[in-house]
Amino acid sequence: PSQTLPEMLAASVAAYGRKTALEFFGATTTYRELGDQVSRAAEGLRRLGVRAGDRVALILPNSPQHVVAFYAALRLGAIVIEHNPLYTPRELRHQFEDHGARFAIVWDKIADTVAEFPSDLALEHIVSVDITAALPLGKRLALRLPVAKARAARAQLTAEPTSKRPAAWAKLLTRGTLSRKHRGPQLDDIALLQYTSGTTGAPKGAVLTHANLRANAMQGRAWVPGLHDGEETFYGVLPLFHAYGLTLCLTFAMSIGAKLVLFPKYDLELVAAAAKKSPPTFLPAVPPIYDQLARAAARGTIDLTSVRFAISGAMSLPVATVDRWEAATGGLLVEGYGMTESSPVALGNPIGPSRRPGTVGVPFPSTDIRVVDPEDPSVDRPLGEAGELLLRGPQVFQGYWNRPGDTAETLLRGGWLRTGDIATVSTDGFVTIVDRLKEIIITGGFNVSPSEVEDVLTSHPDIAGAAVVALPKSQGGEDVAAAIVLRDGVELEPEAIRDFCKTRLAAYKVPRRVIVVDDLPRSLIGKVLRREVRERLMK
Ligand code: ATP
Ligand code: MG
Repeated sequence: PSQTLPEMLAASVAAYGRKTALEFFGATTTYRELGDQVSRAAEGLRRLGVRAGDRVALILPNSPQHVVAFYAALRLGAIVIEHNPLYTPRELRHQFEDHGARFAIVWDKIADTVAEFPSDLALEHIVSVDITAALPLGKRLALRLPVAKARAARAQLTAEPTSKRPAAWAKLLTRGTLSRKHRGPQLDDIALLQYTSGTTGAPKGAVLTHANLRANAMQGRAWVPGLHDGEETFYGVLPLFHAYGLTLCLTFAMSIGAKLVLFPKYDLELVAAAAKKSPPTFLPAVPPIYDQLARAAARGTIDLTSVRFAISGAMSLPVATVDRWEAATGGLLVEGYGMTESSPVALGNPIGPSRRPGTVGVPFPSTDIRVVDPEDPSVDRPLGEAGELLLRGPQVFQGYWNRPGDTAETLLRGGWLRTGDIATVSTDGFVTIVDRLKEIIITGGFNVSPSEVEDVLTSHPDIAGAAVVALPKSQGGEDVAAAIVLRDGVELEPEAIRDFCKTRLAAYKVPRRVIVVDDLPRSLIGKVLRREVRERLMK
């Protein structure tokens, strides 16, 4: 059925009303309760002045309130903008300058910071949310999150929110039911402005419609065989403010009546504790999380044998991690590929014995791909040759907010999306991501893929992490350089690491410089930020 996101949720409320929709530190919310809370919050937001087409910014950790706020704003036909609550005030302010939302629903820890944004911003109303509000006191104490510059928020329980003073969430939730006369959103309305991760530059706001996001949830449904509607337990360890978590945890779970167990941040102990009560069946995550969970499962500190679907994306999945996970849990770990601009998933491995580790699988249903010359995307590359990957499908976005130049460069005629990633396709259709176009290193006329070198480095038993970047040579041109994180307690000379590489890589790919570092800068979803590694090494 052609449903908007709130209609998809409403269908699950009708079909699975008494089943648990959300679990958060043991506290549960049924689908019926969730439907009621969304309805009340929508009415509260409507009285606050939110109308169809208005932009509503969310700055919230994963929590039941995040889910309610998301669907409530969408019910009114408003456009949701997700933000990373751990961004610095400066980063958040830049995004507010970009999207110009009048309304913000924010984590109480940062409500004051947001209230102090400059007065020339469009922002008028701030709703402050205490995500521990529904929890028993003992659980509240367990909930400690790292907040860079947080100050205690002053929840204003009484005043009607007419200014930029934060008003309390509790008030919104006591507003009654949204009138049935209210016109909801249409399929082609914008649902979401989703910022990209900012790996290669400043984050860009990707415009996604209900139709885009619905398509991706339905494609996910077709991808995963043997899902039982109303019976699955999804683990939300990925942030909902990122496209990956938003679709693969939230909208997908809500569309099939699953129970979604939410974590305000990924934490091994929290996951192990939750798994005892609600064993996960569906776990979307990223390679560093799988690696840690697999090691814990191998030690016997967590039982993950209940996981039937383990899905990795956002960055390349080392085959060693696949082996470790599968040995420790007995289940399959399967890799997919996507980007914010495609809602986000576009390719996935078959979930079964024909999946192929080291590849990102085949196009999703209704998704077309091409591999083209990055200099001239109208020229296709022969099958098997590397080139830039293009995508087309119902999940592909409408363009970037406020960035007509970037939109024109990225969305080509015929609906093709330029991914900026270099890929190859095998004769039987499996796609391998080589690297990002922007991060390919050119040294002495040769192209070096940093990912290939990183894979060799991290296959060394003493190396926990690696980032390969280009460093300028004094006489011009670039050198391959590697920043290495060693496993605890080991010592390794840079020369020994170079020797290890020399037996596995052509000479021009072997890092000229190897620098041991304490840690690698990562995005909140765990991607290594090569741009920052390069800046650090250049200092
Ligand atoms: P920005 O566009 O702001 O620079 P970003 O591209 O990291 O940031 P996202 O939309 O979160 O923002 O990530 C999409 C990118 O992630 C893809 O273009 C690709 O480079 C990478 N990616 C996603 N899945 C995989 C995968 N399975 N293997 C390798 N790379 C992947
Ligand atoms: Mg990108």
